[in-house]
Amino acid sequence: MTAALFNDLPREERLAVARRGAAHYSGQLALVDNADFGEPTLLEGWTRSHLIAHVAYNAAALCNLMHWATTGEKTPMYASPEARGKEIEFGATLIPDALRNLHDHTIARLDVAWRDAPEEAWSHQVKTAQGRDVPAEETLWMRTREVWIHAVDLDVTAGFGDIPEVVLRTLLHEIPGKWAGKNVGEDLVLVEEGGAGERVAVTEGAGTEVRGSLAGLVRWAAGRGAQGVDTDAEPPRWL
Ligand code: ZN
Repeated sequence: MTAALFNDLPREERLAVARRGAAHYSGQLALVDNADFGEPTLLEGWTRSHLIAHVAYNAAALCNLMHWATTGEKTPMYASPEARGKEIEFGATLIPDALRNLHDHTIARLDVAWRDAPEEAWSHQVKTAQGRDVPAEETLWMRTREVWIHAVDLDVTAGFGDIPEVVLRTLLHEIPGKWAGKNVGEDLVLVEEGGAGERVAVTEGAGTEVRGSLAGLVRWAAGRGAQGVDTDAEPPRWL
């Protein structure tokens, strides 16, 4: 039997995982002192202020998609990739308390947008920032991925081991799929070493094997380091 992926779950459960992730991320943010907002994150070139601004604006961008799905009025996530970048640069100049407010406000707004969405809105087609056409319910996965991974990127105490198994499994499925779409990583075989010596190849490749725990493999594949896997190889870029 194949393990369930995120989109196999009923919507209420997906909502719960997304909300749990938001709470987890908020908890990590609460541990950051105002004086440490200028410290680096796990993301090259981004301070905590950049990352906090990005996660907040991501919630606002997903509110745009829910608005689009609910009203039919075409409101994209961001006006343009340049506008998205400028917004993050601007957000990073805000003082810590303003960033905390921005975070609280946008997270609450997205929660309300999901709570109040009529049934037909969830299947309404919208466009992601990458130009992919998806039903609005995909915002649940987009946000889930964002908050659970960026909680680690904040570099406080969270790790990939905190991420629910269904989210890790979905990432381990999605990331090699993204590689395949860019014709990279075909030589990689990710092998999960389970508690009972179980091994699951997740790519069809027949080259370099990368072995590790589920959390370790996802961490590596997402480009967050090789802790928990036995490889010296660098993963291809994912997003
Ligand atoms: Zn992000």
